[in-house]
Amino acid sequence: MGVCPIRYLKDFSSSGLFLVISTDSQEKDLKMEGDYIKNMKIKILGSGQDAGIPHTGCYCDVCTRARKDTNYRRLGPSIAVFDKKEGFCYFIDASPDFKYQLDMVREYVNIIRRKGIIPISGILLTHAHFGHCSGLWHLGLEVVDEKNLLVYCTQKMGELLRRDHPFNLLVQRKNIKIKEIQPDKEFELDGFRYVPIQVPHRNKVADTVGYIIKSKKRTIYIPDIDHWTDRIIEEIKTADIAIIDGTFYSKDEISRFDDVPHPPIKETIKLLEDVNTDIYFTHINHTNAINRNGKERKNVESKGFKIAHDGMIIDI
Ligand SMILES: [Zn+2]
Ligand SMILES: [Zn+2]
Ligand SMILES: [Zn+2]
Repeated sequence: MGVCPIRYLKDFSSSGLFLVISTDSQEKDLKMEGDYIKNMKIKILGSGQDAGIPHTGCYCDVCTRARKDTNYRRLGPSIAVFDKKEGFCYFIDASPDFKYQLDMVREYVNIIRRKGIIPISGILLTHAHFGHCSGLWHLGLEVVDEKNLLVYCTQKMGELLRRDHPFNLLVQRKNIKIKEIQPDKEFELDGFRYVPIQVPHRNKVADTVGYIIKSKKRTIYIPDIDHWTDRIIEEIKTADIAIIDGTFYSKDEISRFDDVPHPPIKETIKLLEDVNTDIYFTHINHTNAINRNGKERKNVESKGFKIAHDGMIIDI
């Protein structure tokens, strides 16, 4: 099977098929929102599953290759929503690779906007699993001892952060300041409007949300989900851009699938094949066949889907 760096695979997939032509109503919204909204973008900071690629303790061909050549690496799942001109930048999720991901947005942030050490404006959390919130620990006393970085999360997630170690220490020391959000209730941050939506996902300790990001386009980000629901399928269909769970290609690639269920890409592409939305798969596990330049990857791309990679920029 051929080997092909992710950067090369990126070019392989950029066919121009996915250019979105603005509708009249989108143009109208754009004018109403003012000029700066034109510069809003998303950067994929990590396209890997929680532990990324290489995966912890794994020496499969995909992980071995990623250790040798960082072009094949996928960091923990996170995106930046930013406007370079305005100098603001929000992360969705704080992955274990948070320190590397901050380096990936240095050119977009305006440090004088904040008095803290971390130059981003805030972090929006999806849920309490390792890959999505453990990066917060970098903000504590042992690392940067940050001051009041805004962390947006649901009430249940907020309770967990206030209650459980090590996050409770970050709250007590005011390294982070929790801002509670509610599913289906829109909120605005520096001109970005977000709607959190509830997501079915192994919610043993808190709950899980995805985010609809409203700019001149409508973007939905759902990195982690157990199974697609009618509501979420409808949200994907009505979005311009969807960046969604592509953890596994098929159910049989992992023996403990039932413990960590995700909708396999093989089934998702059948479900969403006729949808007009630009769909990107992210949260990609090291076992996923699309990490190789083989028939599975070709199947995904030939049907008009994209595969996210670290550093990818998407206009929103
Ligand atoms: Zn995850
Ligand atoms: Zn591996
Ligand atoms: Zn999860």
